[in-house]
Amino acid sequence: MVKRRRPLEDGGEGLPPGRWRLTSPYDIDARWAAKGEDLFWHAYKVHISETCHTIADAKDGSKKVVPPNLITNVATTDATVPDNQMTDTIHQAFQQRGLVPAEHYLDSGYPSAELLLMARKKYGISLVTPVLLDQSPQARAGTGYDRTAFTIDWEREQVTCPQGQASASWSPCRQRGTESIVVKFGGEVCQPCPVRSLCTSAKKGGRQLTIRARPLQQALDQARAEQASKDWQDKYKLRAGVEGTMRQAVAVTGVRRARYRGLAKVHLEHVFSAVALNLIRLDAWWNGHPLDRSRTGHLARLELAEIALAA
Ligand code: SF4
Repeated sequence: MVKRRRPLEDGGEGLPPGRWRLTSPYDIDARWAAKGEDLFWHAYKVHISETCHTIADAKDGSKKVVPPNLITNVATTDATVPDNQMTDTIHQAFQQRGLVPAEHYLDSGYPSAELLLMARKKYGISLVTPVLLDQSPQARAGTGYDRTAFTIDWEREQVTCPQGQASASWSPCRQRGTESIVVKFGGEVCQPCPVRSLCTSAKKGGRQLTIRARPLQQALDQARAEQASKDWQDKYKLRAGVEGTMRQAVAVTGVRRARYRGLAKVHLEHVFSAVALNLIRLDAWWNGHPLDRSRTGHLARLELAEIALAA
């Protein structure tokens, strides 16, 4: 079955979406993917999870007794699978292995409002990750009344604006596959409003807001408020450590280039790579050379890793 993304007659290229398009006669699991405007790669994507002990985790505060960060999960997909489709799969793997963390630090590709709630409810995991910010024109411009300027009364299904006016309608609907609620204020209150320019550009009607269903909106609001705080931003710096692991995986085990064909074998290669990195780290730790875990110590860490591998 061939599904066309945009038919030729409509000016499209007539090809199926990337996730269905075979890209090599030698490896039918491989796919092309793109990130941004200038990063293209062929084949697979690997998701690495690791523990992230901090110096504060050491029992006596000594840097030497901090256990090494070890890789706890490796997931491999073809290159087209979005990161957020793997969040729950990774959590399932943690659960099967008895390694469910209290907190999971992730980059912004992995969360969604649904996943924030699901991770907490299903596994007891708090996702520490930047969520998509409010995309309203007011929020993007940083001026005027964005969502946070309005008070939602979920019981009465009504929203109150900064001028104290109550919304005129509350309409649950589906937008791009997600449950949403469209809230409208009457044109008769918004058009004569003295602060209308801060709120809406509607020439006739009133302000319109789109919000998510109650638990999702509340989870999003809480996450957005938290990620604006300095405490959260300091805490989130811990996630950057995994970039050193990715660098180590590339430099020491050559993970960027698949040695085999087919998803199953490439995944096995990624697992072997993770085992090798864990052994390097344990070896360094057991032999009194804990790898430097500071963000500026990656080169030193890499050097030690290469020495350990060569030994
Ligand atoms: S424009 Fe309408 S919704 Fe906005 S503050 Fe004024 S009355 Fe309230």
